[in-house]
Amino acid sequence: MKFLDEIKRRRTFGIISHPDAGKTTLTEKLLLFGGAINEAGAVKSNKIKKGATSDFMEIERQRGISVATSVLAFEYDGIKINILDTPGHKDFAEDTFRTLTAVDSVIVVIDVAKGVEEQTEKLVEVCRMRNIPMIVFINKMDREGKDAFELLDEIEQKLKLTVTPLSFPIGMGYDFKGIYNIWEKNINLFSGDSRKNIEETIEINDLESEELNTLIGNKAANTLREEIELVEGIYPKFSNEDYLKGELQPVFFGSALNSFGVRELLDCFVEIAPKPRPKNSEERLVLPEEDKFTGFVFKIHANMDPNHRNRLAFVKIVSGEFKRNTPYLHVRHKKKVKFSSPNAFFAEKKEIVDISYPGDIVGLQDTGTFKIGDTLTEGEILNYKGIPSFSPEHFRYINNADPLKSKQLFKGIDQLMDEGVAQLFTLELNGRKVIGTVGALQYEVIQYRLEHEYGAKCTYENLNVYKACWVDPEDKKNSEYKEFLRVKQRYLAKDKRGQLVFLADSPFSLQMTQQKYPSVKFHYVSEFE
Ligand code: GDP
Repeated sequence: MKFLDEIKRRRTFGIISHPDAGKTTLTEKLLLFGGAINEAGAVKSNKIKKGATSDFMEIERQRGISVATSVLAFEYDGIKINILDTPGHKDFAEDTFRTLTAVDSVIVVIDVAKGVEEQTEKLVEVCRMRNIPMIVFINKMDREGKDAFELLDEIEQKLKLTVTPLSFPIGMGYDFKGIYNIWEKNINLFSGDSRKNIEETIEINDLESEELNTLIGNKAANTLREEIELVEGIYPKFSNEDYLKGELQPVFFGSALNSFGVRELLDCFVEIAPKPRPKNSEERLVLPEEDKFTGFVFKIHANMDPNHRNRLAFVKIVSGEFKRNTPYLHVRHKKKVKFSSPNAFFAEKKEIVDISYPGDIVGLQDTGTFKIGDTLTEGEILNYKGIPSFSPEHFRYINNADPLKSKQLFKGIDQLMDEGVAQLFTLELNGRKVIGTVGALQYEVIQYRLEHEYGAKCTYENLNVYKACWVDPEDKKNSEYKEFLRVKQRYLAKDKRGQLVFLADSPFSLQMTQQKYPSVKFHYVSEFE
Protein backbone atom coordinates (compact mmCIF):
# COMPACT_ATOMS: atom_id res chain seq x y z
CA MET A 1 0.00 0.00 0.00
CA LYS A 2 1.20 3.46 -0.74
CA PHE A 3 2.50 5.78 1.97
CA LEU A 4 -0.44 8.19 1.72
CA ASP A 5 -2.95 5.34 1.91
CA GLU A 6 -1.26 4.04 5.03
CA ILE A 7 -1.64 7.44 6.69
CA LYS A 8 -5.27 7.75 5.64
CA ARG A 9 -6.23 4.46 7.20
CA ARG A 10 -4.78 5.16 10.65
CA ARG A 11 -6.79 6.26 13.69
CA THR A 12 -4.82 6.82 16.89
CA PHE A 13 -6.87 7.66 19.93
CA GLY A 14 -7.19 7.37 23.68
CA ILE A 15 -10.14 6.42 25.88
CA ILE A 16 -10.47 8.65 28.91
CA SER A 17 -12.72 8.27 31.91
CA HIS A 18 -12.98 8.40 35.65
CA PRO A 19 -11.98 4.99 37.11
CA ASP A 20 -14.79 2.43 36.93
CA ALA A 21 -16.79 4.14 34.19
CA GLY A 22 -15.99 1.21 31.90
CA LYS A 23 -12.85 2.13 29.95
CA THR A 24 -11.31 -1.36 30.19
CA THR A 25 -14.58 -3.06 29.28
CA LEU A 26 -15.10 -0.79 26.28
CA THR A 27 -11.50 -1.26 25.11
CA GLU A 28 -11.98 -4.98 25.28
CA LYS A 29 -15.21 -4.89 23.32
CA LEU A 30 -13.57 -2.77 20.63
CA LEU A 31 -10.79 -5.33 20.36
CA LEU A 32 -13.34 -8.14 20.15
CA PHE A 33 -15.12 -6.38 17.29
CA GLY A 34 -11.78 -5.92 15.60
CA GLY A 35 -11.11 -9.65 15.97
CA ALA A 36 -7.90 -8.81 17.82
CA ILE A 37 -8.81 -10.93 20.84
CA ASN A 38 -11.12 -13.86 21.18
CA GLU A 39 -12.50 -13.60 24.63
CA ALA A 40 -13.50 -11.07 27.21
CA GLY A 41 -11.09 -10.74 30.11
CA ALA A 42 -8.02 -10.67 27.86
CA VAL A 43 -7.28 -7.04 28.54
CA LYS A 44 -5.91 -6.57 32.00
CA SER A 45 -7.18 -3.63 33.88
CA ASN A 46 -4.46 -1.12 34.57
CA LYS A 47 -6.19 0.21 37.60
CA ILE A 48 -4.85 0.17 41.11
CA LYS A 49 -6.71 -2.42 43.08
CA LYS A 50 -7.02 -1.99 46.79
CA GLY A 51 -6.46 -5.23 48.57
CA ALA A 52 -4.04 -7.68 50.04
CA THR A 53 -0.85 -6.06 48.80
CA SER A 54 0.26 -2.62 49.82
CA ASP A 55 -0.78 0.10 47.44
CA PHE A 56 2.65 0.75 46.09
CA MET A 57 3.36 -2.93 45.41
CA GLU A 58 0.12 -2.78 43.53
CA ILE A 59 1.56 0.06 41.48
CA GLU A 60 4.53 -2.14 40.65
CA ARG A 61 2.18 -4.88 39.51
CA GLN A 62 0.31 -2.34 37.49
CA ARG A 63 3.56 -1.22 35.88
CA GLY A 64 3.97 -4.75 34.53
CA ILE A 65 0.51 -4.69 33.03
CA SER A 66 0.81 -1.24 31.62
CA VAL A 67 3.61 -2.29 29.23
CA ALA A 68 1.15 -4.69 27.69
CA THR A 69 -1.69 -2.19 27.51
CA SER A 70 0.33 0.87 26.50
CA VAL A 71 -0.74 0.56 22.90
CA LEU A 72 -3.43 -1.78 21.65
CA ALA A 73 -3.61 -1.96 17.90
CA PHE A 74 -6.10 -3.73 15.67
CA GLU A 75 -7.63 -3.62 12.22
CA TYR A 76 -11.30 -2.96 11.58
CA ASP A 77 -12.80 -2.58 8.17
CA GLY A 78 -9.43 -1.89 6.60
CA ILE A 79 -8.68 0.77 9.20
CA LYS A 80 -5.64 0.45 11.48
CA ILE A 81 -6.68 1.50 14.95
CA ASN A 82 -4.20 2.34 17.71
CA ILE A 83 -5.64 2.75 21.20
CA LEU A 84 -3.26 4.45 23.61
CA ASP A 85 -3.68 3.59 27.25
CA THR A 86 -4.51 6.40 29.64
CA PRO A 87 -4.43 5.57 33.34
CA GLY A 88 -7.54 6.85 35.08
CA HIS A 89 -6.08 6.87 38.59
CA LYS A 90 -5.45 10.44 39.63
CA ASP A 91 -1.91 9.72 40.81
CA PHE A 92 -1.07 8.97 37.19
CA ALA A 93 -2.87 11.94 35.71
CA GLU A 94 0.42 13.31 34.45
CA ASP A 95 1.02 10.11 32.45
CA THR A 96 -2.35 10.55 30.87
CA PHE A 97 -1.74 14.21 30.05
CA ARG A 98 1.44 13.21 28.26
CA THR A 99 -0.30 10.45 26.35
CA LEU A 100 -2.89 12.96 25.20
CA THR A 101 -0.13 14.73 23.25
CA ALA A 102 0.17 11.59 21.11
CA VAL A 103 -3.49 10.93 20.31
CA ASP A 104 -5.40 12.33 17.35
CA SER A 105 -8.77 12.02 19.06
CA VAL A 106 -10.39 10.64 22.21
CA ILE A 107 -13.47 8.79 23.36
CA VAL A 108 -14.78 9.95 26.74
CA VAL A 109 -16.60 7.27 28.75
CA ILE A 110 -19.21 8.42 31.26
CA ASP A 111 -21.16 6.26 33.71
CA VAL A 112 -24.88 6.95 33.22
CA ALA A 113 -25.56 6.81 36.95
CA LYS A 114 -22.56 8.77 38.18
CA GLY A 115 -22.51 11.36 35.44
CA VAL A 116 -19.51 13.62 35.03
CA GLU A 117 -16.85 12.75 37.61
CA GLU A 118 -13.73 14.54 38.76
CA GLN A 119 -11.12 12.83 36.58
CA THR A 120 -13.30 13.15 33.51
CA GLU A 121 -13.49 16.86 34.10
CA LYS A 122 -9.72 17.27 34.37
CA LEU A 123 -8.91 15.14 31.35
CA VAL A 124 -11.56 16.67 29.13
CA GLU A 125 -10.28 20.10 30.03
CA VAL A 126 -6.85 19.17 28.67
CA CYS A 127 -8.41 17.82 25.47
CA ARG A 128 -10.57 20.90 25.10
CA MET A 129 -7.59 23.20 25.43
CA ARG A 130 -5.85 21.30 22.66
CA ASN A 131 -8.95 21.10 20.45
CA ILE A 132 -8.73 17.31 20.37
CA PRO A 133 -11.82 15.85 18.69
CA MET A 134 -13.92 13.99 21.28
CA ILE A 135 -16.73 11.45 21.08
CA VAL A 136 -18.70 10.84 24.29
CA PHE A 137 -19.90 7.34 25.17
CA ILE A 138 -22.49 7.11 27.93
CA ASN A 139 -22.08 3.68 29.42
CA LYS A 140 -24.03 1.26 31.64
CA MET A 141 -27.42 1.97 30.07
CA ASP A 142 -28.53 -1.43 31.37
CA ARG A 143 -28.55 0.15 34.83
CA GLU A 144 -30.76 2.80 36.30
CA GLY A 145 -29.16 6.15 35.79
CA LYS A 146 -29.77 9.78 35.08
CA ASP A 147 -32.26 10.96 32.52
CA ALA A 148 -30.59 11.29 29.11
CA PHE A 149 -31.39 14.99 28.67
CA GLU A 150 -30.32 15.80 32.21
CA LEU A 151 -27.04 14.03 31.61
CA LEU A 152 -26.45 15.82 28.31
CA ASP A 153 -27.01 19.09 30.18
CA GLU A 154 -24.55 18.10 32.85
CA ILE A 155 -21.95 17.22 30.21
CA GLU A 156 -22.40 20.57 28.49
CA GLN A 157 -22.11 22.48 31.72
CA LYS A 158 -19.43 20.64 33.64
CA LEU A 159 -17.28 19.71 30.68
CA LYS A 160 -18.01 22.88 28.73
CA LEU A 161 -18.73 20.93 25.57
CA THR A 162 -21.23 21.40 22.77
CA VAL A 163 -22.84 18.01 22.36
CA THR A 164 -25.15 16.39 19.86
CA PRO A 165 -26.47 12.88 20.40
CA LEU A 166 -25.94 10.47 17.51
CA SER A 167 -27.82 7.72 19.28
CA PHE A 168 -30.58 7.72 21.87
CA PRO A 169 -31.61 5.16 24.46
CA ILE A 170 -35.02 3.56 24.46
CA GLY A 171 -35.73 3.21 28.16
CA MET A 172 -33.12 2.58 30.78
CA GLY A 173 -32.13 0.10 33.44
CA TYR A 174 -34.81 -2.55 33.79
CA ASP A 175 -36.83 -0.96 30.99
CA PHE A 176 -33.90 -0.56 28.66
CA LYS A 177 -35.13 -1.80 25.32
CA GLY A 178 -32.40 -0.71 22.99
CA ILE A 179 -30.92 2.18 21.13
CA TYR A 180 -32.12 4.32 18.31
CA ASN A 181 -29.17 5.15 16.13
CA ILE A 182 -29.67 8.69 14.88
CA TRP A 183 -26.52 8.50 12.80
CA GLU A 184 -27.51 5.37 10.87
CA LYS A 185 -31.29 5.70 11.34
CA ASN A 186 -31.83 2.23 12.71
CA ILE A 187 -32.75 0.50 15.90
CA ASN A 188 -30.92 -2.06 17.99
CA LEU A 189 -33.00 -4.01 20.43
CA PHE A 190 -32.03 -5.99 23.46
CA SER A 191 -33.55 -9.42 23.32
CA GLY A 192 -34.68 -11.77 26.04
CA ASP A 193 -34.31 -11.35 29.74
CA SER A 194 -30.67 -12.19 29.74
CA ARG A 195 -30.08 -8.77 28.19
CA LYS A 196 -26.98 -10.23 26.67
CA ASN A 197 -28.09 -10.73 23.10
CA ILE A 198 -28.54 -8.15 20.48
CA GLU A 199 -31.31 -8.69 18.01
CA GLU A 200 -30.61 -7.89 14.44
CA THR A 201 -30.30 -4.25 13.63
CA ILE A 202 -33.58 -3.02 12.24
CA GLU A 203 -33.67 -0.19 9.73
CA ILE A 204 -36.13 2.51 10.77
CA ASN A 205 -36.03 5.23 8.18
CA ASP A 206 -39.27 6.74 9.34
CA LEU A 207 -39.86 7.12 13.06
CA GLU A 208 -43.57 7.63 12.36
CA SER A 209 -43.95 4.14 10.96
CA GLU A 210 -46.26 1.65 12.65
CA GLU A 211 -43.43 -0.83 12.68
CA LEU A 212 -41.85 1.07 15.56
CA ASN A 213 -44.97 0.49 17.68
CA THR A 214 -44.87 -3.19 16.93
CA LEU A 215 -41.23 -3.40 17.83
CA ILE A 216 -41.13 -1.56 21.13
CA GLY A 217 -44.76 -0.99 22.06
CA ASN A 218 -46.96 2.09 21.76
CA LYS A 219 -45.76 3.88 24.86
CA ALA A 220 -42.05 3.51 24.19
CA ALA A 221 -42.56 4.35 20.52
CA ASN A 222 -44.35 7.59 21.33
CA THR A 223 -41.79 8.57 23.94
CA LEU A 224 -38.99 7.92 21.49
CA ARG A 225 -40.69 10.05 18.82
CA GLU A 226 -41.06 12.91 21.26
CA GLU A 227 -37.52 12.60 22.49
CA ILE A 228 -36.00 12.52 19.03
CA GLU A 229 -38.05 15.56 18.08
CA LEU A 230 -36.65 17.29 21.15
CA VAL A 231 -33.13 16.20 20.26
CA GLU A 232 -33.50 17.64 16.79
CA GLY A 233 -34.90 20.84 18.22
CA ILE A 234 -32.28 21.40 20.90
CA TYR A 235 -28.99 20.11 19.62
CA PRO A 236 -26.97 21.27 16.64
CA LYS A 237 -26.86 19.08 13.60
CA PHE A 238 -23.77 16.94 13.53
CA SER A 239 -20.99 18.42 11.44
CA ASN A 240 -17.85 16.45 10.83
CA GLU A 241 -15.90 19.63 10.38
CA ASP A 242 -16.94 21.06 13.76
CA TYR A 243 -16.16 17.75 15.44
CA LEU A 244 -12.69 17.73 13.90
CA LYS A 245 -12.09 21.27 15.09
CA GLY A 246 -13.01 20.20 18.62
CA GLU A 247 -16.10 22.41 18.60
CA LEU A 248 -18.80 19.75 18.60
CA GLN A 249 -18.91 16.44 20.46
CA PRO A 250 -21.16 13.62 19.27
CA VAL A 251 -22.66 11.42 22.00
CA PHE A 252 -23.45 7.70 21.92
CA PHE A 253 -25.32 5.63 24.49
CA GLY A 254 -24.69 1.98 25.25
CA SER A 255 -23.60 -0.73 27.56
CA ALA A 256 -20.02 -1.87 27.09
CA LEU A 257 -20.54 -4.92 29.29
CA ASN A 258 -23.32 -6.17 27.02
CA SER A 259 -21.59 -5.02 23.81
CA PHE A 260 -24.53 -2.79 23.29
CA GLY A 261 -24.04 0.33 21.21
CA VAL A 262 -20.36 -0.49 20.79
CA ARG A 263 -20.51 -1.44 17.13
CA GLU A 264 -22.38 1.78 16.37
CA LEU A 265 -19.72 3.73 18.19
CA LEU A 266 -16.93 1.96 16.33
CA ASP A 267 -18.57 2.32 12.91
CA CYS A 268 -19.11 6.00 13.42
CA PHE A 269 -15.62 6.41 14.87
CA VAL A 270 -13.83 4.93 11.86
CA GLU A 271 -15.88 7.14 9.60
CA ILE A 272 -15.53 10.49 11.35
CA ALA A 273 -12.41 10.29 13.56
CA PRO A 274 -9.35 12.12 12.27
CA LYS A 275 -6.48 10.45 10.52
CA PRO A 276 -3.05 11.44 11.90
CA ARG A 277 -3.03 15.18 12.43
CA PRO A 278 -0.28 17.75 11.74
CA LYS A 279 1.78 18.67 14.79
CA ASN A 280 3.39 21.88 15.88
CA SER A 281 7.06 22.05 16.69
CA GLU A 282 8.92 25.03 18.02
CA GLU A 283 10.22 25.60 14.51
CA ARG A 284 7.23 24.87 12.27
CA LEU A 285 4.06 22.86 11.66
CA VAL A 286 4.85 19.34 10.48
CA LEU A 287 2.44 17.45 8.22
CA PRO A 288 2.10 13.66 8.36
CA GLU A 289 2.41 13.44 4.58
CA GLU A 290 5.93 14.88 4.56
CA ASP A 291 8.33 12.26 3.31
CA LYS A 292 10.98 12.72 5.99
CA PHE A 293 10.50 10.90 9.27
CA THR A 294 9.92 12.83 12.49
CA GLY A 295 8.54 11.66 15.82
CA PHE A 296 8.66 12.32 19.54
CA VAL A 297 8.90 10.37 22.80
CA PHE A 298 5.75 10.67 24.92
CA LYS A 299 6.26 7.84 27.36
CA ILE A 300 9.16 5.88 28.81
CA HIS A 301 8.69 2.57 30.44
CA ALA A 302 11.34 0.99 32.62
CA ASN A 303 11.66 -2.75 32.31
CA MET A 304 10.60 -4.80 35.24
CA ASP A 305 13.89 -6.69 35.38
CA PRO A 306 16.05 -4.79 37.89
CA ASN A 307 19.24 -6.38 36.51
CA HIS A 308 18.82 -4.79 33.15
CA ARG A 309 18.15 -1.15 33.12
CA ASN A 310 16.61 -1.32 29.71
CA ARG A 311 13.78 0.95 29.03
CA LEU A 312 11.23 1.21 26.30
CA ALA A 313 10.70 4.66 24.84
CA PHE A 314 7.35 5.12 23.09
CA VAL A 315 7.63 7.24 19.98
CA LYS A 316 4.67 8.67 18.11
CA ILE A 317 5.43 8.96 14.42
CA VAL A 318 4.36 12.37 13.16
CA SER A 319 5.62 12.34 9.57
CA GLY A 320 7.38 10.11 7.06
CA GLU A 321 8.28 6.45 7.46
CA PHE A 322 10.16 5.10 10.41
CA LYS A 323 12.52 2.37 9.27
CA ARG A 324 14.45 -0.19 11.21
CA ASN A 325 18.27 0.08 11.26
CA THR A 326 18.20 3.58 9.84
CA PRO A 327 20.16 6.36 11.56
CA TYR A 328 17.98 9.15 12.94
CA LEU A 329 18.94 12.37 14.63
CA HIS A 330 18.35 12.53 18.39
CA VAL A 331 17.83 16.29 18.31
CA ARG A 332 18.59 17.07 21.97
CA HIS A 333 21.83 15.04 21.90
CA LYS A 334 22.72 16.17 18.35
CA LYS A 335 23.66 12.55 17.66
CA LYS A 336 22.59 9.98 15.11
CA VAL A 337 21.14 6.80 16.55
CA LYS A 338 19.68 3.73 14.91
CA PHE A 339 17.40 1.03 16.18
CA SER A 340 17.79 -2.63 15.32
CA SER A 341 14.64 -3.84 16.99
CA PRO A 342 11.83 -1.29 17.06
CA ASN A 343 8.62 -2.76 18.46
CA ALA A 344 5.17 -2.37 17.04
CA PHE A 345 2.22 -3.13 19.27
CA PHE A 346 -0.73 -5.38 18.73
CA ALA A 347 -3.57 -6.34 20.99
CA GLU A 348 -1.69 -8.92 22.98
CA LYS A 349 1.87 -8.82 21.80
CA LYS A 350 4.62 -6.66 20.47
CA GLU A 351 6.74 -7.48 17.46
CA ILE A 352 9.78 -6.12 15.71
CA VAL A 353 8.77 -4.09 12.67
CA ASP A 354 10.70 -2.88 9.65
CA ILE A 355 8.55 0.08 8.84
CA SER A 356 5.94 2.21 10.63
CA TYR A 357 3.79 5.12 9.50
CA PRO A 358 2.44 8.40 10.88
CA GLY A 359 -0.08 7.67 13.61
CA ASP A 360 1.78 4.56 14.68
CA ILE A 361 3.65 4.13 17.91
CA VAL A 362 7.01 2.37 17.99
CA GLY A 363 8.70 1.16 21.14
CA LEU A 364 12.47 1.75 21.10
CA GLN A 365 14.90 -0.01 23.39
CA ASP A 366 16.72 2.62 25.39
CA THR A 367 19.48 2.52 27.93
CA GLY A 368 18.93 6.01 29.22
CA THR A 369 19.41 8.30 26.24
CA PHE A 370 15.80 9.42 25.97
CA LYS A 371 13.61 11.59 28.04
CA ILE A 372 10.00 12.47 27.59
CA GLY A 373 9.56 15.08 24.88
CA ASP A 374 12.66 14.14 22.87
CA THR A 375 12.38 14.51 19.11
CA LEU A 376 13.83 12.23 16.41
CA THR A 377 14.25 13.37 12.80
CA GLU A 378 16.18 12.52 9.64
CA GLY A 379 18.52 15.45 10.29
CA GLU A 380 16.31 18.52 10.67
CA ILE A 381 16.61 20.48 13.92
CA LEU A 382 13.06 20.26 15.20
CA ASN A 383 11.62 20.23 18.69
CA TYR A 384 8.08 19.06 19.18
CA LYS A 385 6.06 21.17 21.55
CA GLY A 386 3.39 20.24 23.91
CA ILE A 387 4.55 18.07 26.75
CA PRO A 388 4.34 20.56 29.57
CA SER A 389 4.82 19.77 33.24
CA PHE A 390 2.00 20.56 35.61
CA SER A 391 2.53 21.72 39.16
CA PRO A 392 2.83 18.67 41.43
CA GLU A 393 0.56 18.33 44.46
CA HIS A 394 3.13 17.00 46.92
CA PHE A 395 6.65 18.18 47.66
CA ARG A 396 9.42 16.59 49.73
CA TYR A 397 13.16 17.02 50.12
CA ILE A 398 15.03 13.92 49.06
CA ASN A 399 18.13 13.03 51.10
CA ASN A 400 20.84 10.49 50.46
CA ALA A 401 20.74 7.78 53.13
CA ASP A 402 23.92 6.01 52.03
CA PRO A 403 26.84 8.38 51.37
CA LEU A 404 28.77 5.66 49.53
CA LYS A 405 26.06 5.41 46.93
CA SER A 406 25.53 9.03 46.02
CA LYS A 407 26.47 8.42 42.37
CA GLN A 408 23.85 5.69 42.10
CA LEU A 409 21.31 7.88 43.82
CA PHE A 410 21.77 10.77 41.42
CA LYS A 411 21.72 8.52 38.40
CA GLY A 412 18.58 6.84 39.69
CA ILE A 413 16.80 10.10 40.39
CA ASP A 414 17.83 11.38 36.99
CA GLN A 415 16.47 8.39 35.13
CA LEU A 416 13.25 8.14 37.11
CA MET A 417 12.60 11.81 36.37
CA ASP A 418 13.29 11.21 32.64
CA GLU A 419 10.64 8.51 32.78
CA GLY A 420 8.26 11.10 34.18
CA VAL A 421 7.66 9.34 37.51
CA ALA A 422 7.95 12.68 39.35
CA GLN A 423 9.50 16.12 38.99
CA LEU A 424 12.78 17.30 40.41
CA PHE A 425 13.41 20.84 41.61
CA THR A 426 16.80 22.11 42.76
CA LEU A 427 16.70 24.96 45.26
CA GLU A 428 18.57 28.08 44.18
CA LEU A 429 19.75 28.87 47.68
CA ASN A 430 21.51 25.67 48.69
CA GLY A 431 21.18 23.17 45.85
CA ARG A 432 18.93 20.86 47.86
CA LYS A 433 16.77 18.55 45.79
CA VAL A 434 13.00 18.51 46.04
CA ILE A 435 10.79 15.83 44.52
CA GLY A 436 7.32 16.85 43.44
CA THR A 437 4.63 14.25 42.73
CA VAL A 438 0.97 14.08 41.84
CA GLY A 439 0.20 11.37 44.39
CA ALA A 440 1.81 10.55 47.73
CA LEU A 441 2.27 6.91 46.68
CA GLN A 442 4.91 7.90 44.18
CA TYR A 443 7.37 8.56 47.03
CA GLU A 444 7.23 4.92 48.05
CA VAL A 445 7.61 3.83 44.45
CA ILE A 446 10.67 6.05 43.99
CA GLN A 447 12.26 4.82 47.22
CA TYR A 448 11.61 1.21 46.28
CA ARG A 449 12.88 1.55 42.74
CA LEU A 450 16.00 3.51 43.76
CA GLU A 451 16.90 0.69 46.10
CA HIS A 452 16.03 -2.22 43.80
CA GLU A 453 17.15 -0.86 40.48
CA TYR A 454 20.02 1.44 41.46
CA GLY A 455 21.20 0.16 44.84
CA ALA A 456 20.68 3.57 46.41
CA LYS A 457 18.87 4.58 49.56
CA CYS A 458 16.95 7.75 50.22
CA THR A 459 14.90 9.41 52.91
CA TYR A 460 12.40 12.22 52.60
CA GLU A 461 11.77 15.33 54.57
CA ASN A 462 8.57 17.29 54.45
CA LEU A 463 8.50 20.62 52.77
CA ASN A 464 5.56 22.94 52.91
CA VAL A 465 4.78 23.89 49.35
CA TYR A 466 1.36 24.63 47.95
CA LYS A 467 2.16 24.92 44.25
CA ALA A 468 5.12 25.11 41.93
CA CYS A 469 4.71 28.18 39.74
CA TRP A 470 6.81 28.67 36.65
CA VAL A 471 8.15 32.21 36.65
CA ASP A 472 7.50 34.38 33.62
CA PRO A 473 8.93 37.91 34.01
CA GLU A 474 7.89 40.70 31.69
CA ASP A 475 11.43 41.96 31.65
CA LYS A 476 14.34 40.08 33.13
CA LYS A 477 16.32 43.27 33.52
CA ASN A 478 13.85 45.44 35.40
CA SER A 479 14.45 46.23 39.02
CA GLU A 480 11.16 44.72 40.14
CA TYR A 481 12.22 41.31 38.84
CA LYS A 482 15.64 41.64 40.40
CA GLU A 483 14.04 42.47 43.71
CA PHE A 484 11.72 39.48 43.38
CA LEU A 485 14.73 37.21 42.79
CA ARG A 486 16.50 38.62 45.83
CA VAL A 487 13.59 38.71 48.27
CA LYS A 488 12.12 35.35 47.33
CA GLN A 489 15.41 33.55 46.85
CA ARG A 490 14.69 30.87 49.37
CA TYR A 491 11.47 29.91 47.53
CA LEU A 492 13.10 29.67 44.14
CA ALA A 493 14.22 26.52 42.39
CA LYS A 494 15.12 25.27 38.92
CA ASP A 495 13.18 22.46 37.28
CA LYS A 496 14.89 19.77 35.23
CA ARG A 497 14.97 21.91 32.13
CA GLY A 498 16.56 24.77 34.04
CA GLN A 499 13.39 26.87 34.12
CA LEU A 500 12.88 29.01 37.19
CA VAL A 501 10.10 27.98 39.56
CA PHE A 502 8.59 29.76 42.54
CA LEU A 503 7.57 27.32 45.27
CA ALA A 504 4.65 29.10 46.91
CA ASP A 505 3.88 27.84 50.39
CA SER A 506 0.23 28.92 50.43
CA PRO A 507 -2.41 30.45 48.18
CA PHE A 508 -2.09 33.55 50.31
CA SER A 509 1.65 33.97 49.81
CA LEU A 510 1.21 33.40 46.09
CA GLN A 511 -1.41 36.11 45.98
CA MET A 512 0.78 38.52 47.97
CA THR A 513 3.75 37.83 45.73
CA GLN A 514 1.65 38.44 42.65
CA GLN A 515 0.46 41.75 44.02
CA LYS A 516 3.89 42.87 45.00
CA TYR A 517 5.51 42.00 41.67
CA PRO A 518 2.80 42.60 39.06
CA SER A 519 5.24 42.41 36.15
CA VAL A 520 6.14 38.82 37.02
CA LYS A 521 3.67 36.17 35.93
CA PHE A 522 3.25 32.79 37.60
CA HIS A 523 2.03 29.68 35.78
CA TYR A 524 0.98 26.27 37.11
CA VAL A 525 2.17 24.75 33.84
CA SER A 526 5.73 24.75 32.54
CA GLU A 527 4.80 25.84 29.04
CA PHE A 528 3.27 29.18 28.30
CA GLU A 529 3.13 31.50 25.36
P1 GDP B 1 -12.49 1.32 34.11
O1 GDP B 1 -11.98 1.55 35.49
O2 GDP B 1 -13.04 2.58 33.52
O3 GDP B 1 -11.52 0.62 33.20
O4 GDP B 1 -13.80 0.38 34.28
P2 GDP B 1 -14.01 -1.16 33.99
O5 GDP B 1 -14.12 -1.41 32.53
O6 GDP B 1 -13.02 -1.96 34.74
O7 GDP B 1 -15.48 -1.33 34.60
C1 GDP B 1 -15.76 -1.08 35.95
C2 GDP B 1 -16.92 -1.97 36.40
O8 GDP B 1 -18.11 -1.62 35.71
C3 GDP B 1 -16.67 -3.45 36.10
O9 GDP B 1 -17.19 -4.19 37.17
C4 GDP B 1 -17.46 -3.67 34.84
O10 GDP B 1 -17.89 -5.02 34.72
C5 GDP B 1 -18.64 -2.75 35.03
N1 GDP B 1 -19.21 -2.32 33.74
C6 GDP B 1 -18.56 -1.87 32.64
N2 GDP B 1 -19.45 -1.60 31.65
C7 GDP B 1 -20.68 -1.87 32.14
C8 GDP B 1 -22.00 -1.80 31.58
O11 GDP B 1 -22.23 -1.43 30.44
N3 GDP B 1 -23.02 -2.16 32.41
C9 GDP B 1 -22.81 -2.58 33.69
N4 GDP B 1 -23.89 -2.92 34.40
N5 GDP B 1 -21.60 -2.67 34.22
C10 GDP B 1 -20.53 -2.32 33.47
